Amino acid sequence: MTAGAFFLLEDDVVRYINVKSRARTEFIDITEKVQEVLKETGVVTGVCHLYVPHTTAAITVNEGADPTVQRDIQALLNRLIPFEGDYHHREGNSSAHIKATIVGISQSVLIDDGRLILGTWQSIFFCEFDGPRHRRVALKFMSDKKLP
Ligand code: ZN
Repeated sequence: MTAGAFFLLEDDVVRYINVKSRARTEFIDITEKVQEVLKETGVVTGVCHLYVPHTTAAITVNEGADPTVQRDIQALLNRLIPFEGDYHHREGNSSAHIKATIVGISQSVLIDDGRLILGTWQSIFFCEFDGPRHRRVALKFMSDKKLP
């Protein structure tokens, strides 16, 4: 095997997690959902790519133990990028587009021993900036060992 090579899974599919936001801005912890999908794949070591196919939502990995951290991040983003402003976009949700661009629409999390490698305080958050809406997150798993 070439060092660093990755194997696509046998079924080679993109998997999806559905997310339902309930507020205009909201961080939703999807760590356990991602871990459940990972378990289904059977990947032991490799990488999970997470991708948000939306223009007004994003994804981040950050503090999951203390919800006030999510509150503080959202509050600062809302102060820096207010809902109303000198925006030209007619849909009226430019602040959500800007926040999505700043936070980013993809993350990669490494996998070891069949688990996502996350620090004690880390969680994966879907970041809603223009809710409430039905959303989804695309997941692509790659294994560095050929699966049986
Ligand atoms: Zn828009």
